[in-house]
Amino acid sequence: MKPYRRIVLKTLVTGVAAAPWLARAQAKASKQAMQYQDQPKNGQRCDTCMQFIAGPKPGAPGGCKVVDGSISPSGWCVAYVKKS
Ligand code: SF4
Repeated sequence: MKPYRRIVLKTLVTGVAAAPWLARAQAKASKQAMQYQDQPKNGQRCDTCMQFIAGPKPGAPGGCKVVDGSISPSGWCVAYVKKS
């Protein structure tokens, strides 16, 4: 086998083998791990956090880019980062 073909094949095999690991690496953290609570903390709340994903209506539960599950707009966790 020619060297460049070997390199291409090795890259493809390595990439396929790494794919499940990459998927797991992007999993969200649990609420417990992030000390999530349904109430604001010191004026900080999910709907002013850059990680918040708004729900279907204003005030409705939404999601979060880093924490798994339904997220209250008035919730909070240790990963809070104020929207700029
Ligand atoms: S990172 Fe924490 S504070 Fe920010 S939206 Fe997600 S759960 Fe709320």
